[in-house]
Amino acid sequence: MQFRSTKSNFPLVSYKDAVLNCLPDDGGLYVPDQTADIRKLLFSMNEQTTFNDMLSAVAPSILEGGINPVSASKIAASAYNFEPELISLDENFSLLKLYNGPTGIFKDFGIAFLSAILEEFMKGREQSMIVSAARADTAVSMAHAFNGRKGISLVLLYPSGQIRGLDPSSFVQNGGNIIPIQVKGTFDDCQRLVVETIKDREFSARYNVTSSNTINPGRLLPQVFYYLYAFIQIKNKFSKDLFFSVPCGNFGNLIAGLYAWKFGMPVNGFIAAMNINNAFGDYIRGNTFRPKPLVTTNSPSLDVSVPLNYERLASFYEEAPAVMRNIVYPASIDDDLTLQTIEQVYKKYGVYIDSNTAVAFAAAKAISAEYKLKGQAHTVVLATGHPAREANITMEAAGQGIEIPDSILALKKICDPIAIIPPQLDTVESAIASCF
Ligand SMILES: *Cc1c(COP(=O)(O)O)cnc(C)c1O
Repeated sequence: MQFRSTKSNFPLVSYKDAVLNCLPDDGGLYVPDQTADIRKLLFSMNEQTTFNDMLSAVAPSILEGGINPVSASKIAASAYNFEPELISLDENFSLLKLYNGPTGIFKDFGIAFLSAILEEFMKGREQSMIVSAARADTAVSMAHAFNGRKGISLVLLYPSGQIRGLDPSSFVQNGGNIIPIQVKGTFDDCQRLVVETIKDREFSARYNVTSSNTINPGRLLPQVFYYLYAFIQIKNKFSKDLFFSVPCGNFGNLIAGLYAWKFGMPVNGFIAAMNINNAFGDYIRGNTFRPKPLVTTNSPSLDVSVPLNYERLASFYEEAPAVMRNIVYPASIDDDLTLQTIEQVYKKYGVYIDSNTAVAFAAAKAISAEYKLKGQAHTVVLATGHPAREANITMEAAGQGIEIPDSILALKKICDPIAIIPPQLDTVESAIASCF
């Protein structure tokens, strides 16, 4: 499979080049140029198939030529010591727990895979460097995933504020390969600095610099795998219409689901669950996208005003607008209903969910009522965050304390970055250079 920019049909690049370069020169985003058909393969698997076995079989078939079965299986083993977990709550709802990774967030799936595949792709280069802008959670996930990867160092540019949950023994001055740098500025400054660093040809050639943000296709693809995994777990269990409800911020997760569908996973619809930052719902309904000012909610991972993956979603809609209107259902949930849903799910099923998952759960119920699906549909709600990460919200809503695992407690530990710098390219570059 080859990839192209959302902005033009040429040039076509390999999966490897799309992962390594991550941003096309024309300012678009990489998307697959062809589709795959893995329907048969999916029906040959069942609830006995492990996540890694499924991945090793499916990835070469999707990427055709981009990766062979032996490397796929090596990459799966090197990326994942955790798995998605599907629990069926009743006839109508299942939860797909995606928070068993090191930071308790589904993004661990994409980041772990990206780190493993980059190690594979960069084999043979003497030394390479990933420069990434990251907010706290993503930064910790990346530091976990890249820790100890051969021949790769990871520079993390953070906005001002305390950094929590990083393990100093992985830092470069302690013999590790992680270089955390705090930037006195905003997240946007950090993202700008990443782009500037990569565009500084001399610097990026010297250190073999690549980026790896949310929009890297190396992070998007592995998110397709857990939809497929949910499907093979569930296909023999319920003979109903199948829906996925996805809490949406930058819309990467939803897009991964749409690729799973495009590649042949049978599904009746996706619920695009938003909190009250819901401007994108209008676009999905067929109107022009008009961003609204950002509102802070109690499901902060979904507080996004212009989704980073806008271009990718738009490319689906441009291709087949009518089909898309029949497969994606937008819904918007406010803070009160979010809290009520955490409580209801706990009381009814004895299961804790986090606020983002609650938005998806409430959205699934709202869509089910709107389209009178009750009884005919089974909805898999994506549980994207570990409920213990927001123990106070869970406790308030469920009226019960929640046990906090050590791995989640460790995320609260404060540690110092290797440098604190103003938001300028030359200071970034000299901070990096001083590590070598
Ligand atoms: C990032 C995140 C989301 C939103 O996912 P997108 O791919 O950005 O739409 C949902 N829930 C949690 C817990 C997250 O961290």
